[in-house]
Amino acid sequence: MRILLVQPDYFSKNLGFRLLALPEPLHLEVVAASVPDHDVCILDMRLDGNLEAALKKFWPEMVAVTALTPEVYAVQNILLQVKAFSSEIFTVVGGHHATLLPEDFFIAQVDAIAVGEAELMFEDLVRAVAYRRGLGGVCNIIWQDRNGQFVRNRLTKSHVNMDAVPLPRRDLTEAYRNEYFFLFDKPDTSVATSRGCPYRCKFCSVHEFYRGQTNQMTSERVLSEISAVSTAHITFVDDNFLMNTRRENAIADMIRSEGIKKRYSMECRTDSIARHPELVEKWVNIGLYAVLLGLEGGSDKTLKGINKSCTIDTNNRAIRILQDNGVIIWGAFIVDPEWTEDDFRQLRDYVREKQITHTQYTILTPLPGTSLYRSRYEDLLTHDYSCFDTLHVVLPTRLPRDVFYQNFADLYRQRDIGPYYDLVQAGKMTIEDCKRGKIMLDTMSDWERYIEKDPILGTKNLYNTIC
Ligand code: SF4
Repeated sequence: MRILLVQPDYFSKNLGFRLLALPEPLHLEVVAASVPDHDVCILDMRLDGNLEAALKKFWPEMVAVTALTPEVYAVQNILLQVKAFSSEIFTVVGGHHATLLPEDFFIAQVDAIAVGEAELMFEDLVRAVAYRRGLGGVCNIIWQDRNGQFVRNRLTKSHVNMDAVPLPRRDLTEAYRNEYFFLFDKPDTSVATSRGCPYRCKFCSVHEFYRGQTNQMTSERVLSEISAVSTAHITFVDDNFLMNTRRENAIADMIRSEGIKKRYSMECRTDSIARHPELVEKWVNIGLYAVLLGLEGGSDKTLKGINKSCTIDTNNRAIRILQDNGVIIWGAFIVDPEWTEDDFRQLRDYVREKQITHTQYTILTPLPGTSLYRSRYEDLLTHDYSCFDTLHVVLPTRLPRDVFYQNFADLYRQRDIGPYYDLVQAGKMTIEDCKRGKIMLDTMSDWERYIEKDPILGTKNLYNTIC
């Protein structure tokens, strides 16, 4: 069977973090690997928007698309285009949004919705479609019957054995490889060695998607993932890479004894770092150079409000450990719509005081499937998912909305280039990297760019569903 897997594009041309990172569609590469007996192709529409050309070239019998919440309309439009090209193509949608709010894909153009991790059903689904066996026996899917009704099949209770997950089909994204990057490393390869998270941050859907489970690859299996990577740089895209110190210690030992020379970035919680400075040092010695750190806020009040299960003291210790080891911190912060000008000022001061050079500020957004969504549903100002990109505020604000955006954009205003100069001097950034960063900061610090898509202040009707 010929299967086309599609990574949609949704980012606004005006705003976003595209200049900071563009990871490969790893989940699609893994899905492709789960059906080795079939002819699979991946279209990354963030880099190649010509769906029609791909359909004409490949003539797929099945098209599967993945969807996060802000991508919902892009995915609906992709499926509309696919069915207009040929109504014979079987269409599947999966991913976080489709799993947590499948009703948004109860539309004529969708034949099946994949619920949860693809390994639990994709192979069975492909077999059933290829051999026209009927979909009633395929677990973890919702499918459209002949009468246009969506039928929910049984959900399995089992979880994916991470060591049994096949190596990603990176050959299918080879043509795009040179475009994938993380901060200053291009080309980059993403590696996921675990799934799920034991924490319960209010804004996060990870634990909902994985039904509260956390699964990890063994250190031996992680080494085989790393050994299969051809690029000089790897980003571990686990939600919290340093979660199991015994395992990450063993991985570092194996990398050293195998003589593997690469640069690494990872995503981490601050408490893992604060508890294990020796592990950070060990990883720095084998090539760790940057950490995407979920700092979330500059006060205990903020951290408590989002149920981060962490304190400012822990965050401060983690920052110190990383900086003492020369690791670049990409600090991620969340801004609450309830904030006053004092709250904004306090965060600005905190970031300046801690000299965090690379920052990502997002607005607290009740994404479907999160506890925040359930508790604030009645307060939502819009159900237009294109506004759920964490750069627009979908809840009421305490400040007047334009003042809120002025303060939010101001967080991105670069006041002191001294720390960047130090990184260039230390050979950790190039002048080109600085220019790229400046373009992003200039864009993100222009508050009027946010207004266009605001649910209250916006002038354009951006509710571009296919309905
Ligand atoms: S934000 Fe990070 S630590 Fe919190 S629940 Fe999500 S993945 Fe876990």
